[in-house]
Order: sequence, then C-alpha cells, then structure tokens
Amino acid sequence: MEKIIDETKQGNSLVLEPKKENGRKLFIESYGCQMNFSDSEIVASILSKEGFNTTQNLEEADLVLVNTCSIREKAEQTVRKRLEKYNAVKRINPGMKVGVLGCMAERLKSKFLEEEKIVDLVVGPDAYKDLPNLINEVEEGRNAMNVILSKEETYGDISPVRLQSNGVSAFVSITRGCDNMCTFCVVPFTRGRERSRDPQSIVEEVNDLAAKGYKEITLLGQNVDSYLWYGGGLKKDFKNATEMQKATATNFAGLLKLVAEAQPKMRIRFSTSNPQDMTMDVIEAMAKYPNICNYIHLPVQSGSDRILQKMNRLHTREEYFELIDNIKKLIPDCGISHDIITGFPTETEEDHKDTLSLMEYVKYDFGFMFAYSERPGTMAARKFEDDVPEADKKRRLQEIVDLQQKHSRYNTEKFLGKTVEVLIEKESKKSDAHWSGRNSQNTVVVFPKENYKVGDFVNVKVEDCTSATLIGTPVGYSDNN
Ligand code: SAM
Repeated sequence: MEKIIDETKQGNSLVLEPKKENGRKLFIESYGCQMNFSDSEIVASILSKEGFNTTQNLEEADLVLVNTCSIREKAEQTVRKRLEKYNAVKRINPGMKVGVLGCMAERLKSKFLEEEKIVDLVVGPDAYKDLPNLINEVEEGRNAMNVILSKEETYGDISPVRLQSNGVSAFVSITRGCDNMCTFCVVPFTRGRERSRDPQSIVEEVNDLAAKGYKEITLLGQNVDSYLWYGGGLKKDFKNATEMQKATATNFAGLLKLVAEAQPKMRIRFSTSNPQDMTMDVIEAMAKYPNICNYIHLPVQSGSDRILQKMNRLHTREEYFELIDNIKKLIPDCGISHDIITGFPTETEEDHKDTLSLMEYVKYDFGFMFAYSERPGTMAARKFEDDVPEADKKRRLQEIVDLQQKHSRYNTEKFLGKTVEVLIEKESKKSDAHWSGRNSQNTVVVFPKENYKVGDFVNVKVEDCTSATLIGTPVGYSDNN
C-alpha cells in the first residue's frame, strides 16, 4: 500500500460536542501531520473555555482558524487556496476573523498580516495559550501575532478535547520540536528545539482516555525515540542537568513501560521513530509488553549513504539494516513503514538504485513517498542546488511507489489463513455491512459486522487481501476486551 498522506483527512473541519453556555462559533481546520491534528485539539480545548463552540459551517463562524503545514511547497499552496476561500466568505460576513496557526504562521510570520493583509491573527505552535489574549486584541480591531518559540512549552497541563473522534483511538503528544536538523526539513525552524513532556502528565492523560472508553493511543512526536524527561527544558540542555536529574531521567523505553503498565489493555502505538535514536531498549520494551503494537514507522529518506550524509541523517545504510535485523530478531512479525524522498539534490540513478535495493532488503509493509521540495531557509536550500529535473523526480517516485505496492502485497499475503486481532474503529468506506479496523501491524482489516461494535477487539480470520487491506471473517472476541 502506498500512502501519500491521507488526503481524506486533510482539511476536514473539526467539531466537538457544543457547550450550552458558549455563544461564539469557531471553525477550525487542520492540514499536515498528526501533530497538527493533535495541536488543534489543544487549541479547541483552550477556546472552549473562552466561550467558543465548534462549527462545521464556515459561513456562520465568528472565528476561523487554520492549522497549517510547511513541509512541502504543495502543502502551503493548499492552505493559501483555503485562505482565499475564507476571504471570500469574509466579504459576506465582515465580522468573521481569520487566524493562521502552526508551521506556516511560524515560517511566514508578519508576511500574512503586513504584506498580504489576508488574516487577522498569526499564532505559532508554541503560543496557543496566548490565544485568548490575541483574540481580544483582534476583537478590539487590531491584528495580533505571537510566533515566539518556547524552551518549555509542552501543553502538558492542557487536557485536549477530542475532535472528530471515533471514541476509540486518540493521539497523545509526548515531545515538541526537533533537534535533528535534517537538511531538507523545515520542522526545526517552525516547531523549535526539542523538549519532552512530563511522563506523569502523559500517564494521567492516558488513564483519563481509558476511563472515557478509548482503546488505543498513539504517542506523538517528531522523533519519539529521542524522548527524555529530566524535569523540563530542552533536550540539548540535558548535559547541564544535575547528577540527580540525570539519575532519575525517563527515556522513551522508560515512558513506554510506564504507559504499558498503567493501562495493560490499551493498545499503544507511537510515531515517528528516527533510526539514529531508536535503541535496543525500545525494541525490547515492544517485545515485552503485548499491548505495545508490533509496528514501527521508521523513515529512511534514502538508501544511498552519500545522500543520507547530505541529508544529515546520522546513520548509514548498513546501520539501518542492523536496526531492521534487530527489530526482526526480537519482533519477527513487526510491521515496518517508511518515508522516502526522491530527487534530493545531486541524487543520481545510482543513488536511486540504492534506495530501491534498500527497499528490497526491508520489504516494508507500506510507506509515504515524496518528491523533494526545496524549503526556503533549510540547509539544503542554502547549500545545494535543487538540480534533479522534475521529470526524473517523478519517474523515480513512481518506481518506488510501484515497488512498495509489490512489497505491500507480499506482506498482506503473508496474513492469508491467519487469525489476527482487530480493534474496530469505524464502518468500512466501501460497505456499510462491514467494520474496518487495524491489526497490531497497522494493516487495515475489514470484515462483516455481525453483532460486534466499534471499540471491540475481535479475532478475524484473514481470507483475502489487496495490497492495502486484509479481508476476513470474525471468529470471536479477543481476550483483550
Ligand atoms: N520527524 C520525522 C522524521 O524525522 O522522519 C518526520 C517529519 S515530516 C513531518 C514527514 C516526512 O516528510 C519526512 O519524513 C520526509 O520524508 C518528508 N519531507 C520532509 N521535508 C521534505 C521536503 N523538503 N521535501 C519532500 N519531502 C519532505
């Protein structure tokens, strides 16, 4: 299965149960990564206390917020089209205020307010607690902006509301920012330096989700394996921590253990893992706790050592293979997915073939594949010419997509005749007589509804498959209910 970002989830307006006492209407949309969707839940939670209910009807909104993505040029263009739409509505409803949140707010800052004059409010990813003040400013007729990046902010003290939730799976954010400095990537500039959230507040959020009936959580961060709590502050300042802080610090394997033991029936997933930071103790924790799903999203970006180095990915192809071998040794049925970029500056056919041969070695279950998009301000944009012709980028992308499709089918076929545990999430898109959920390896499974319901853990015998989906028959509840 090739996944090129879940377009169906992009830009949906997000809604939650209205509060009677709230009189103002908020229309909030999210683009980009899961982290943005999770951040929008924090924003809606903050604004719910400020008298805002969510609406799906743009025309009736008092405040329109769009949580934006800068990762590729196309992501920014999509948001720009939405801003045009909001401005058209503003002409009919002049009282409506428009705000840009997230990575584009951080990257373009005052450009929106001063040059383009298309929005009233610009708020970066670390400034959401300032939204009530900023909205007051806007309501008094002034533009407002806060794009200050923080050393401490993790929103650990905000209990997010769940937008568009199926009541079964939820995201729990554990780190913010990123210190990796991959040369192609805007994230360190738009989301700031890496910091981790207090494990106690994470466990409390997970316990609260369990009490509300949630069955699966995904721990979220740009680089979850780098998680390190030593009392607060930036990861890069850990070296200056006291001996006591160092001795009592919690790393990602420690956090996984805390969460897995706090809720032994809760399925636990995490995303994203960076190969350079994924340690054996994390793989061991996955192998030890049955409630941690056997699935790792492990972006590689390229199979060529020369390109990996130019990307500042701090591992080699050989080291990546070692990691894969270790994962397969400890968790033989582990699902593994990737992110790959084609056409990074100077990429040759030889480098591209290295990527294809790396894929052959790993045989990923699925992946997210992108053509390189130069991002202003990144090291790659400053140092390297974007010199791979568009046609080559596209052809190489198609070749890796085709190979992935073949590997995805190879992996789904391995499940034929086997029984897998599925957590029911929703009705199948293709048939109202079927449920859809995922197995531990994160592969989608569909099967007849019978008397099961959303949130049940069901054992399903796999009888058929496509490259993306397993199709089966339910054979009973699993022990995990
Ligand atoms: N933090 C994760 C990591 O280190 O791999 C994921 C970050 S990003 C939100 C998701 C993916 O977008 C990346 O893994 C990369 O494949 C892709 N990406 C990032 N910058 C890109 C660029 N300039 N052009 C094309 N794809 C890009």
